[in-house]
Formats: sequence, C-alpha cells, structure tokens
Amino acid sequence: MLSLRQSNTPLRAAWVEINLAQLRRNLEIIRADMPPNLKWCSVVKDQAYGHGAVEIARETVRAGASYVAVATLDEALELRGAQIKAPILIFGERPPTALDCCIENDFTIFVNDTAQAKQADEIARKKSKFASVQVEIDTGLSRYGIRWTKAPSVIESILQLANLQLAGIMTHFAMSDELDKTFAYEQLRRFEELLQQLRERKILSSYSLLLHACNTGGYLDISKAHFDMVRMGILPLGVYPSKACRRISGLLPIMSVKTRIAAIKPIELGDTVGYGMRYRAESPRTIAVLPIGYGDGFPRVRNTGYVLVHGKRAPVIGGNAMDAMMIDITDIPQTQLWDEVVIMGKQGKDEISVHDLAAWGGTVSYDIMTRWSVRMPRVYLE
Ligand SMILES: *Cc1c(COP(=O)(O)O)cnc(C)c1O
Repeated sequence: MLSLRQSNTPLRAAWVEINLAQLRRNLEIIRADMPPNLKWCSVVKDQAYGHGAVEIARETVRAGASYVAVATLDEALELRGAQIKAPILIFGERPPTALDCCIENDFTIFVNDTAQAKQADEIARKKSKFASVQVEIDTGLSRYGIRWTKAPSVIESILQLANLQLAGIMTHFAMSDELDKTFAYEQLRRFEELLQQLRERKILSSYSLLLHACNTGGYLDISKAHFDMVRMGILPLGVYPSKACRRISGLLPIMSVKTRIAAIKPIELGDTVGYGMRYRAESPRTIAVLPIGYGDGFPRVRNTGYVLVHGKRAPVIGGNAMDAMMIDITDIPQTQLWDEVVIMGKQGKDEISVHDLAAWGGTVSYDIMTRWSVRMPRVYLE
C-alpha cells in the first residue's frame, strides 16, 4: 500500500517538508473564520494531497473535524489502522466486492442506486450491523451520484431498508472557485429543489440527515451552500484552489520541497545540456545538477522554471530527467556542493509557490502537490 512513512536510511538529498506547526495555525485560523455551528469534513484523499494522510488527519481530527474523507478503501484502512477515530467517509462508488469490508469496518459509503443499497443492506443484516451510508446527488458535475430529479424515489427506497442508516445527502460543485459562480448557483438551485421535495415528503423532518455541498472553493465563496457541513482538503494545507477565491489572512502553505546541489561544473560556449539537447550555452556558464527529476514529481519541463539557491532564482536549463535536473548558477557564484536548494517554498525573501510550479507544468496546484512521489521522504516539522 502507498505509504509515506519513512525508512531509517540517511535522508535523501531531495525531500518534502511538512510544517505541522503551521498546519495547526492554519486550522485555528480556519476555525475562527467558520460560522460556529458549521461542521467540517477533513478530506485527506491521495495522502492528503501528498502531505501524508495519517499525519494530517491526526491534526484535523484533533482540531475538530467531524469526518475524515478518502477516495479508496485502502486509504480508509490506513487511517483506521493508525487509530484515527473520527467517522471515515469514502467518496465515489464501491465495487460489490468491497461492500463487505466497508461495512465490517464501519466506513460510511455512498449508495447511489437501489440495487446497490439492497446489496449493502443484505450484507449489513448478515453481520447484524447498521451500515451508515450517504447519497450523492449529481447536480451538474456528471460524475458520481443520482441525478437530482431522480433522487427522491431512490432516497425513499433506501430509507425502507432496515439495516441501512442514511446519514447524509451531498452534492459536489463543478466550478466553485472561479469568479463566475453562475453554474455553482444553478447546481445549488437544483440541490435546493431536491431538498424541497424531500421536505414535502416529510423526509427531512423525520430523519436526521447531514446536508453538505461545499469543497474549499464553495466554503470560501458560496456561503449560501454551507448547509450542515463543508468538505475541505486543500485549505488547511494553506493553499487556495484558485487565484479568484476569497483570502483568509494568515494562512500559509505547509509543504516545501527541497534538494541539495549534487554537482557543479563549468560549461563552454556551444555545450548542450540534458537529454534531447534542449539547451545550448551561448556563453560560458556554471551549472549545477540537482538529484531530483520528473520521477520525483517535478513537472516535465524544458528550459522552464526556477529554483531558489542562496535566496536567488536559478533557472532550470534543458529538459529535466527522471532523477536529475540542471540549473544555471552562473550568477550565484557562492554556491557550494550540497548547499540547500528550494524547489517549492521560501528561501530568503523569495518564494516559489505551488501555483508557479503548476503554471510551468501546465497543470493545477492539486496535481503538483499529489505528484511528489513516494521516494521523496517526508520530513515533519513540529
Ligand atoms: C476532493 C474533494 C473535496 C475537497 O476539495 P478541496 O477543493 O480540496 O477542498 C470535497 N468533496 C469531494 C467530493 C471531493 O472529491
């Protein structure tokens, strides 16, 4: 199973630092920003976006998260194995073969059709258990869930099943963090339309159902959609989902990526650098080799991006390899072998943000964070 736990070997000269003290500050700041009665679900799927699911969940549960959420059964089992006591929600759909294990371990799963609900009910009955389930409503993402117009009858049929306990109803936004909120408000209107039908059928008044719709973007900018709980993954990590969304003063990223200078060499006019000879020196230069590549999660780039050396920006030259990349340090002559280099994060007065790396790699911040590979040791700072 994927795990970011560390071995006892000497630290590799390329690593990911996670600042747990800043995580705790972020959690305090977010709690102070939240309306007092709003619950929150800490989303720690994909190793809490590469930060380490167990370490992040421990802090978020301590800070008051009502649920933790993951995307796979293995992720849920890892949290349970690490004594995370909060209820665990598994997003998405479970194959029939996984239902038994989910119910055995009291994970909350989504059942989004009647046939699967009956199957889950049957398994729970055999175990003399009540399986906690939620229903996802598809209001426009066209991913998981029941189309909002078709949901009331499915929800009623789930409520008939004696060994299922319907704990909540949720939906998920397709675009919550952009300036244009038109479609998010349309999705909210569809969700409200469903809730109105459930009210008319006396379902909302007869059962205690947790209603939730917001991810981080929704939490920040669509307060009408907060309902009972919000689901936040990226915000506690100190990263905003987009440039457009509301800012909360004091939040800072908790992940930095660092390496060290592994070789320094002068090159001459006309020398090429790296596979594919994508860089050709137009004058004599001093270059350094960093022992980190696209295999470690640095985006696959050519002559694009910077790293920080002695607080200064050194450009990436050539195409990066799986295990190494080259930088131009001609203007940073004090550089020595094994000096620390910042790939993502702060050094001196400068900072390379996850959004910078995302722009250089033509991708999104979520992708950059989750991509740092398991061979990059995680170092947790208290
Ligand atoms: C990943 C995910 C979230 C968390 O999104 P953030 O933007 O990281 O807060 C919330 N809900 C669902 C269904 C998700 O898949």
